Amino acid sequence: MGINYVGNYLEQKASQYLKTLGIHKPSDINIEQICALENLDYRLGNASSYIVVNEYRLITINKHKSSKQQNFEFLHELSHNHFEHHIYLTQCSNFEQEACHFSLYLAIPIHMFRFINFESDNLIQEVSDMFNIPEEIAYQRLQNIFDNYNYYNIFFTSKKNVCSNRFYTN
Ligand SMILES: [Zn+2]
Repeated sequence: MGINYVGNYLEQKASQYLKTLGIHKPSDINIEQICALENLDYRLGNASSYIVVNEYRLITINKHKSSKQQNFEFLHELSHNHFEHHIYLTQCSNFEQEACHFSLYLAIPIHMFRFINFESDNLIQEVSDMFNIPEEIAYQRLQNIFDNYNYYNIFFTSKKNVCSNRFYTN
């Protein structure tokens, strides 16, 4: 599956971003490691947030959440940092949506598909454990991968059919 999978623009961007940080395997998607690489301060608090004061950048994560939920909320706040949403004077409603999509793509990036056994009967649980994300997030991302995969497959198959039809009529 990983070989033929293309993914949308934002998905490719998420994967590219992690690769530039030298993050190539699931266990590397680690809060402390990414904060060190991105020069972000990190603390546990009562809520998850992304705070910028001049050059200082802080991500706080809700200490009351599970480790998997914390990890995913971190990727959400990291997305705000990546897109530098704080530099815009007015809050745009698209920012939340952008961060939501991007964090989902960061959670299971395209270049790590090779670690996933997509044929497994226990796929959601395995992916949730491997990438340290809640099961509902794993499910959401997997659904999204299958949808995209089918979309592109159907697209290319129909294109191939067009070519072969033409071949036969000639
Ligand atoms: Zn947000």
